[in-house]
Amino acid sequence: MRRIEIYDTTLRDGLQSPGVAVDGQGRLAIARRLALLGVDAIEAGFPVVGEAEAEAVRLVAREVDGPVIKGLARAHPRDVDAAWDAVRDAARPRITVYAPVSDVQIAHVLRGTREDALGRIRAAVAHAHTLAGDVEFSPMDATRADPAFLAETVAVAIAEGAAIVSVPDTVGYTVPHEFAALLTRLQADVTQLAQVTLAVHCHNDLGLAVANSLAGVLAGATAVEGTINGLGARAGNAALEELVMLIDTRGAHLGLETAIAPEHLTAASRLVSELTGYTVQPNKAIVGANAFQHDAALYRAAVGRDRATYEIMDPRRVGRDDA
Ligand code: MN
Repeated sequence: MRRIEIYDTTLRDGLQSPGVAVDGQGRLAIARRLALLGVDAIEAGFPVVGEAEAEAVRLVAREVDGPVIKGLARAHPRDVDAAWDAVRDAARPRITVYAPVSDVQIAHVLRGTREDALGRIRAAVAHAHTLAGDVEFSPMDATRADPAFLAETVAVAIAEGAAIVSVPDTVGYTVPHEFAALLTRLQADVTQLAQVTLAVHCHNDLGLAVANSLAGVLAGATAVEGTINGLGARAGNAALEELVMLIDTRGAHLGLETAIAPEHLTAASRLVSELTGYTVQPNKAIVGANAFQHDAALYRAAVGRDRATYEIMDPRRVGRDDA
């Protein structure tokens, strides 16, 4: 069995959802729940954004034990310093440095050239490494980038000390077999990847965030990042509860396992829903109100005789009290 690390970015990517404002105490409550769940890392926020954001990250870093606590930074010295200042009190602090690597984003986000992007990645990862030791590099918009250039940026980041490379499908554009092929090629092009953790971070614009994440894992990634309830900008991120229960339910077939305690998933979902005001659709997998309901009399009778008739998961396994 391969142990897959579960990273959470509910507090960063998740809270970037439009209209969401969760204060420091609310963020701390979510982080504590994530720690109870047993996630391997919590991305606590994007400290350079402002003092309230930085203070919320600081609070999580100081108060939450167990997971790695990550602060996000663009490939810029000021961002890296702000991220380090916010996470440095954590028992296991990490700085995640990201930079655009697709030509369209290099032109319009970085407003520079590929050489500029490489130079910034080199400098920022090196700087983060002198501060934090534990550095993650995320090549933004990797799935729309030139794979050869993507490989260059990843090689540079690893050379400067990145111990985790998290490949994102930033705009939710890829499809499973294409994402798997990209990661397979990347591992062939950058053999140093075998010495670091390869993670994936997928968005749900085409409803494929979890499927793409699974394809990434089967192609060699050993960490996946998601959010509770699939919260996140636009159509959201890979839903953490779906990633976890996919591996929990089909782990024997997939040869995968996690260290998550799934009985805390329902409480985590309800807390995030309450604090953000984003209600969960009734038919949402794992945490939707109807996810374990059998309304048709025919199904209900059969489930009454043997739950396995129509149930692939025991609702109690995810902490549900309604079944
Ligand atoms: Mn994202």
